[in-house]
Formats: sequence, C-alpha cells, structure tokens
Amino acid sequence: MSENLIIGDGLVVVLRYTLRTDEGDVIDASTAEKPMAYLHGADNIVSGLEQALAGKTVGFSGRVKVEPEDGYGEREDLPLETVPRSAFPADAELAPGMQFMTQGPDGEHAPIWIARIDGEQVLMDAQHPLAGETLDFEVEVLAVREATANELSHGHPHGPDGHGHHH
Ligand code: ZN
Repeated sequence: MSENLIIGDGLVVVLRYTLRTDEGDVIDASTAEKPMAYLHGADNIVSGLEQALAGKTVGFSGRVKVEPEDGYGEREDLPLETVPRSAFPADAELAPGMQFMTQGPDGEHAPIWIARIDGEQVLMDAQHPLAGETLDFEVEVLAVREATANELSHGHPHGPDGHGHHH
C-alpha cells in the first residue's frame, strides 16, 4: 500500500465529505461507509475543491469554501425552457433538481435540470442547480492511490478500490 502519496494528477482520491450552502443547508454528503472517489486532474469535481486538495495526503481534513466561479459557475439570467410533461416517460417521478441529458443540433450532449413543474409544463434550466452558490465543503481524505490504466483512459475512477461497476 502507498500511504504517503501526495494528491496530484493521475491519482484516485477517496473522500468523505459534507457539502453545505453558504447558509448552512446540507446539499450532499458521502460517508466513510459510502465514500466518493474521484480522479485528480480529470475535472471529476469542481475546480475549487480539486485545487484545495492538491498537495494534501491521506488524513487531511478541513473546510473548503468554493466561490461560484470555481464551483458551478455564476448564475446568469437565462430563460427556462418549457417542455410538456408528456415528453417524459409516464412513470417517471419528476422532481426539481433532476438532471437529464439533451442532444443539440450538432449531436453534442449537454446536461439540463428540472427547475420546477407547473401542471403539465416542466420548466428546464440549462444551468446547474448550484450555479451562483458558494459551496462549503467539509472533507476528509480517506485514501489516495494510483489510478489504473483503465481509469486513466476513462477519465474517472471505478470506485474506491478500482473494481466498481459503472455505466
Ligand atoms: Zn470507466
């Protein structure tokens, strides 16, 4: 086991974290039992958190505040797109914040989120729900390991131990 790896590009970092808004509302969390793994240098996580973790080692824990420009971007005043409820699978339980993928005219895929549901109309937002938010991460580095060749070519980790399944 390599226990003294210094976090940098090409390493898989396993984290426990709690993400709060600037107002203290918990948005997301991952526990030591179900940690989150990311591949450093591959844009798997917001840049502000990645930059704060660079150079750290296993056992680091602390608070990392990420401004919107280093998080999910500033929120711009863009119009929502209205999509009829019937465009979604009838049995899908739609809720604000759910992410879908759209395909543009050039075939490129882009994420889009449900902003709100208004009767038979679903209002979609091309901006991440956390755009404009200052992110307050409480993190602990549980493990750091070399990425496998497969993970490097995919640009993401295959779970904390490198053997996870994925889409
Ligand atoms: Zn993969």
